[in-house]
Amino acid sequence: MSVKVCKFGGTSMADGNVIKRVKAITDDDEERKFVVVSAPGKRYSGDIKVTDMLYECHKKLMSEGSLGDSFAAVRDRFTSIVKELGLDFDIKSVLDETERRIERECSEDFTASRGEYLSARITAKALGAEFVDAEDVIFFKEDGSLDSARTYKAVDDAVCKCARAVLPGFYGKGADGKVKTFSRGGSDISGAVVARAVNASVYENWTDVSGFLACDPRIVDNPKRIKRISYKELRELSYMGANVLHSDSIFPVRKANIPIVIKNTFRPEDEGTEILPSSRYTPLGNVVTGVAGKKNFTVIFIEKSHMNSEIGFIGKVLCAVAAEGVSVEHIPSGIDTMSLVIESCQLTDSKLGKITEDIKESVNPDLIRIIENIALIATVGHGMSSSVGTSARLFNAIAAADVNIKMIDQGSSEMNIIVGVKNDDYEKCISAIYSEFFR
Ligand code: ADP
Ligand code: ASP
Ligand code: MG
Repeated sequence: MSVKVCKFGGTSMADGNVIKRVKAITDDDEERKFVVVSAPGKRYSGDIKVTDMLYECHKKLMSEGSLGDSFAAVRDRFTSIVKELGLDFDIKSVLDETERRIERECSEDFTASRGEYLSARITAKALGAEFVDAEDVIFFKEDGSLDSARTYKAVDDAVCKCARAVLPGFYGKGADGKVKTFSRGGSDISGAVVARAVNASVYENWTDVSGFLACDPRIVDNPKRIKRISYKELRELSYMGANVLHSDSIFPVRKANIPIVIKNTFRPEDEGTEILPSSRYTPLGNVVTGVAGKKNFTVIFIEKSHMNSEIGFIGKVLCAVAAEGVSVEHIPSGIDTMSLVIESCQLTDSKLGKITEDIKESVNPDLIRIIENIALIATVGHGMSSSVGTSARLFNAIAAADVNIKMIDQGSSEMNIIVGVKNDDYEKCISAIYSEFFR
């Protein structure tokens, strides 16, 4: 029998009544055998995600040497979930033990991971499934990357005996034997890892929207759903801020050609979005598949006549940035100009100062200028390379919205065009691009 792996996100875990929906969804299809869960997310706007509460607990533990009453809110959340589910489950003992272990381990990753741990313990009970702890089956290497071979075998060995299993997302065990988390939103990666380990027929990612939308629904009202999308397009969009799915979650499933389907826990009958490997992907004929973006980048603009003919110029500039341990997102360039686009959170004033000085010293530019508060917006689609006039449409739409473009970068894959605009113009620019290509 083929099996499906289902990952349920934070909103699908938010309270006992939603977890009842999770049970109904998994009960509805006997192939939905393996379930990966996030920590409880927001129940309403303004609510606090359990993971965020746990990061606060860790701060308190660091500053005061004990959790004090900071764990109380986490305790209340899980206690009421168990009550709403009407479960016969001794949540008090599990919470007491968790609180003691958080104080003992004194680690940020361990503390943050407990949202998923508790969520999975409760969901396993609610579904009548086995609980399989991620710290026993998901392993990281010394350099922090996933130890795939060891992990796939351990996951498969642990779950293959179970009629149904629930695993916590977001964490595993580091090379030092301690609990280690993926980056934020990482339960999506855990789901993909489990799907790969059991060679699932599909990886279902259950969330609170009916699929991958052509742009962020918090910016444009009711954007069109993308019916199907290739792994490559998805990676571009999710990396650029469409955080419905973590951008690293395609790596485990891509090699095994396992499709991902985004589904809505609150509207399970909706079709959702199919994310397919290139070999199984037939384009829908749209020029643009989607638009996504992120705010808060810094651009280091460098001008020097004949820069292109100066051997090693770009290398020296990049060395100056690397020396400060900073990574560069994009490097758009012209004949006599180049820009380095860097996430602002990587740059303290002193790092930026050192980088600028180093560049001045090593390549003696005619001009070096720092532009801050830049947002990047990516317009993505396989259809863009073959369709004449796409960039003209894009730039005209942005101009018509009275937005000034600060930077342009056309990816070498020819399936995306990235523009840099002022942070303040971000929403306006996304709406303009969406209207041009989708309305
Ligand atoms: P989960 O808790 O299920 O992992 P996330 O909050 O991580 O859910 O992701 C779902 C959210 O992603 C949606 O509620 C939506 O607001 C946001 N989002 C941003 N961009 C997009 C997009 N292009 N398509 C769909 N959702 C998007
Ligand atoms: N709970 C974690 C977070 O908030 C992981 C996840 O939800 O995927 O980032
Ligand atoms: Mg998520």
